[in-house]
Amino acid sequence: MDNEFTIKISIPTDDYGYILLKCSHCGTFFKSTPDDIEDDRVLEIYCPSCGLTSDNYLTEEVVELAIAMAQNKTMDLIYDEFKKMEKEFKKGPVTFKAGKRPNHEHENPIRSGIEALETTIFPCCNRKAGVKPILRITGCYCPFCGVKNYEVE
Ligand SMILES: [Zn+2]
Ligand SMILES: [Zn+2]
Repeated sequence: MDNEFTIKISIPTDDYGYILLKCSHCGTFFKSTPDDIEDDRVLEIYCPSCGLTSDNYLTEEVVELAIAMAQNKTMDLIYDEFKKMEKEFKKGPVTFKAGKRPNHEHENPIRSGIEALETTIFPCCNRKAGVKPILRITGCYCPFCGVKNYEVE
């Protein structure tokens, strides 16, 4: 059995092409487009609220989905091994029954765009991101270069 497996999760964009991100430091939600996030010129993504960079910007929904998918995959692998054992032990003195395939955890599709975020243009990078309306008043860090912008539209 291969000990490694990969799970691919696609995070859907909202109607405007943004995906929802969450800062792991302060929990602030913000939105960005996959194009900007994956752009080679954008080295790191900064939280618009605290200005820090996070290791990941996964929302709970994405994490939960990843866990559910991993559990299901693991259970399938274990079950397949049991099935193999069932066959191997069929004629021996010890019999082994794998039983029924376990039920899968429900894999929730990810909803995006649950937060009320306003599309904001960051003049320093000329890129757009969705941020909490309050940040437009208090000033917010550009998610793409980390510079604090006090006047954003
Ligand atoms: Zn933050
Ligand atoms: Zn910038």
